[in-house]
Amino acid sequence: MIDSHCHPNSKELELNAAEIIERAYSAGVESFMIVGCDLDDSFKALSMANNFKNYNAYAAVGIHPHEAKIYADNLDFYLDKLEAMTLDNRVLAWGEIGLDYYYDISPRETQQKIFIAQLERAVKLNLPVILHIRDAMDDALAILNDYYKNLKLLFHCYAGGLKYLERVLAMGGLCALGGAVTWKKSDELREVAKIINLDKLLLETDCPYMTPAPFRGKINEPCYIKYVYELIANIKNLEFSELEDRIKNNYKKFFEIK
Ligand SMILES: [Zn+2]
Ligand SMILES: [Zn+2]
Repeated sequence: MIDSHCHPNSKELELNAAEIIERAYSAGVESFMIVGCDLDDSFKALSMANNFKNYNAYAAVGIHPHEAKIYADNLDFYLDKLEAMTLDNRVLAWGEIGLDYYYDISPRETQQKIFIAQLERAVKLNLPVILHIRDAMDDALAILNDYYKNLKLLFHCYAGGLKYLERVLAMGGLCALGGAVTWKKSDELREVAKIINLDKLLLETDCPYMTPAPFRGKINEPCYIKYVYELIANIKNLEFSELEDRIKNNYKKFFEIK
């Protein structure tokens, strides 16, 4: 299995990161994409990717839309720092970046400005992008329309439903599904899982958030990715091991892992 989006660098998990990664690895999770949400968090993602090299950990660096307002004033200065981190060969992507109008923690205009500036960097550095988009698909797709031809896009925690799926796929985007697909009310997400071409799918925990159904309410961790795999294998009517192979191929291809 592969956890294509996790935050062992989060404050909920960082103190036990080694134990958590080891537990997941022993349970069959063979690679981890550790994602940054701000400058400090991205630095931690990179450090962990190096510390957990033997577990095939990699990092993505970027500024999450929630944090946009903190970086708005000296944006170029901060983006230069993130760009410097990408010189390390454990960094394989820029993210997570995007728009979040559900929480609206940063003003929407600021979110957009920082999203666009980071897309520019990703194009310049030729890095794939990990997108976080919540209740903002129209604005996000309008912005991405200027970039998708030059960028590989991963819609992490895809929440655009069937409504946006066709447009996302037309942009060459991949969708990542996580614990939410196991939740009782997520019929539409399961419908997405059913119709999406397997070549366009990745699976993730987004831990410590989005804990899958049997453990909902607990802190999520990478070993729980198993429950997402089980459900998707079921929906797709595949052997577990076949799903593992297909997802691993998509992951390696998207992040260009040899
Ligand atoms: Zn996210
Ligand atoms: Zn995340």
